[in-house]
Amino acid sequence: GLPKVLVSACLLGQPVRYDGGHQLAHHPVLARWLAQGQAVAICPEVAGGLPTPRPPAEITTGGSGASVLAGRAQVHDSAGNDVTDAFARGARLALQLAQKHGIRVAVLKDFSPSCGSSHIYDGHFAGRKVAGDGVTSALLRDAGIVVFGEHQWDAAAQALQALQAVACAAGKD
Ligand code: SF4
Repeated sequence: GLPKVLVSACLLGQPVRYDGGHQLAHHPVLARWLAQGQAVAICPEVAGGLPTPRPPAEITTGGSGASVLAGRAQVHDSAGNDVTDAFARGARLALQLAQKHGIRVAVLKDFSPSCGSSHIYDGHFAGRKVAGDGVTSALLRDAGIVVFGEHQWDAAAQALQALQAVACAAGKD
């Protein structure tokens, strides 16, 4: 069958964001993936056991997804609770889901401490962004999955096509 793509559940319109809202994305690539049954939804924070709504969370200052996974940074919510374990669990479940479906490409919500793929908030809950990725993006990338942000649908579709072409050439289709 057609290759599947991991997509942040909030980008698919599921009301799983910390504030109880969603962030439904509108793009022809996403519409095609949905029509062809290729989009696999995951909200790592909900999968990790956090409720919706929930206080916003940020990775501690100076950290990123990789440093959280390495135990050198934590994730705290705005109430001061350490939610690192839930974020790490959600990342592992996202990776398991991706591997179950043979997924090699993901499109995830920007700036999230789980799903962010280029920038995240700086840990001060002041709305400032720094370069870095979230915990789930870091774990997926570790496993060789290519992670794109919410405005990179065309690039993600091209990456998927390239991988398919390689698989066909290798006779593995
Ligand atoms: Fe969306 Fe990811 Fe946040 Fe879940 S963890 S609400 S999928 S950005």
